[in-house]
Amino acid sequence: MVGSKQWTNWGGNQTFQPSRIVTPTDEADAIARIRRAVAEKRSIRVAGGGHSFTPVVETDGALFDLSKLSGVISADRSKRRAEVAAGSKIAALGAPLWQQGLAIANQGDIDVQSVAGAIATGTKGSGTAFGSMSSAVTSLRIVNGRGEVVDIDGSDPEKLRAAQVSLGLLGPVLRVGLQLVPAYRLREENVILPMSEVLRQWDFLLAEYRHFSFWWMPADRSSHMYKLGEVAADHCFVKLLREIPADAPEVPVGEINGRTDRAHRIYPDGTTVAEFHELEYMVDAADARSVVEVMRELMWKRFPDEISPLQIRWQKADDAFLSAQTGRDTTSVSVSGEIGRDYLPFLRAVDEALRPFFARPHWGKLHFLDRGRVERLYPDFERFQKVRREMDPDDLFLNPHLAHLFG
Ligand SMILES: Cc1cc2nc3c(=O)[nH]c(=O)nc-3n(C[C@H](O)[C@H](O)[C@H](O)COP(=O)(O)OP(=O)(O)OC[C@H]3O[C@@H](n4cnc5c(N)ncnc54)[C@H](O)[C@@H]3O)c2cc1C
Repeated sequence: MVGSKQWTNWGGNQTFQPSRIVTPTDEADAIARIRRAVAEKRSIRVAGGGHSFTPVVETDGALFDLSKLSGVISADRSKRRAEVAAGSKIAALGAPLWQQGLAIANQGDIDVQSVAGAIATGTKGSGTAFGSMSSAVTSLRIVNGRGEVVDIDGSDPEKLRAAQVSLGLLGPVLRVGLQLVPAYRLREENVILPMSEVLRQWDFLLAEYRHFSFWWMPADRSSHMYKLGEVAADHCFVKLLREIPADAPEVPVGEINGRTDRAHRIYPDGTTVAEFHELEYMVDAADARSVVEVMRELMWKRFPDEISPLQIRWQKADDAFLSAQTGRDTTSVSVSGEIGRDYLPFLRAVDEALRPFFARPHWGKLHFLDRGRVERLYPDFERFQKVRREMDPDDLFLNPHLAHLFG
C-alpha cells in the first residue's frame, strides 16, 4: 500500500508529513520499493511501532512501514538462534519461540515495539547479567543507500557492531538474527518498600534476582503516572523477577504481581495510555547509588512539583558502537515529563545533573545531545561513522534530528 498521510508517534510529541507511506507486502516487495526510493535520492526512514519519543522516525521523503514483514523465519534450537522478520512485534515472537524451546534472554516493560525499532535504539530490560536486545543481535539483512541488499554477521564484526544499534542510519533492516536462551518461566515477587529499605537491601536484591528494578516515588501521586497502584512518597515499587524452570506450573494471580508464567508473558507491564514523555540516561553501574542520591536531591529540592517516578534498572556491558552500554556495565535512570506541563526545564536539569557521570541517552527517549557530546560519549563514534558513510554515501537515511547528531 502506498499512501500519504500524517504520522504521529505513540507519545503524541512527534508529528510529520512524509511524502508517502510505503507498506511493502513482503521482503521482495520491500527491496524493490526501497530501491526505487533510493534511486530518487530523497530521504528514507522506517517507522517501527512509533514508541520512541525522539524524532528518530521523521522524514519528508518516503516512510516505510515494514509491519507486514513479520514472524520467525527460522530457528535453530541447538545453536539457540533464530532469524526473525524485522517488522515483527516483540509480542509476536514469544509464542513461536516458546514452541521451539527458545526465548529472548531479557525484555523491557512493553513488547509492542518492532524488533528492528527496538534494536535501533538499544532497547533493554533490567538485570546485571543481561545486555540490551541489540547485544543479542547476531546478523541483519539491510538495504543500504546504494540499494544493495547487505547481509551482516559476525564475519564482519565492524559492520555488525555498527548495525546492532544504528538508529536506522545504515538503511532499512529486513531481517534480524538473535542469540536466544532456552525457554524459561518467571515468578514475579513485586513489593513496595521504603527507599531506605531499598538502599539497605540493594546489593542483596541485585544478586538474588534475575531482574531487579525499582521506581522511587517523590510524591504520593507519582505512582499513578505509570499506573503502579498506591505507593506512598519516598517509597518504591520494586519489580523482582526470579527465573524458574520452563515446566513449573502457571499461577496467574493479579495483573502485575504474583504471577508465574512464560517469561515473555511476564515482562510487559501493560502501559497503553500516553501520559508522559520519558528521558532515560545510562551511567556506569558503579555510580548508581550516587546518581540516585543526586536525582532525589534534584527532584525534591529544585523540582518539587514534578511527580515523575524515578526508574532505576541495570544492564550488562556490550560493544556495539552506539550502545549506551558500550564498554561498561550500566545503570539506567529514567524520569518523565507529564504531558501538558512545561517539563523541559526539569528534563534539562536532569541532563545537567547527569553530565558529570558521563551519562549516555536511550536513543528513543528525550535527550539533549549534540554531535560534540555524541563524539565525546561514544569512543567508537568514528568507527560507526565510517560504516555509516560506506552504507549511506548520500546521507539518505539522515533526518534533521539525526543530522544534528551524526551529520
Ligand atoms: C510506554 C513505553 C515503554 C517503553 N519501555 C521501554 C523499556 O522498557 N526499555 C527500553 O529500553 N525502552 C523502552 N521504551 C522505548 C522503546 O523501546 C524504543 O523507543 C524503541 O525504539 C521503540 O521501538 P519501535 O518499534 O516503536 O520503533 P520506532 O520508535 O518506530 O523507531 C525507532 C527507530 O528505529 C528505526 N527503525 C524501525 N524499524 C526499522 C527498520 N526495519 N529498519 C531500520 N530502522 C528501523 C526508526 O527509523 C527509528 O529510528 C519504551 C517506550 C514507551 C513509549
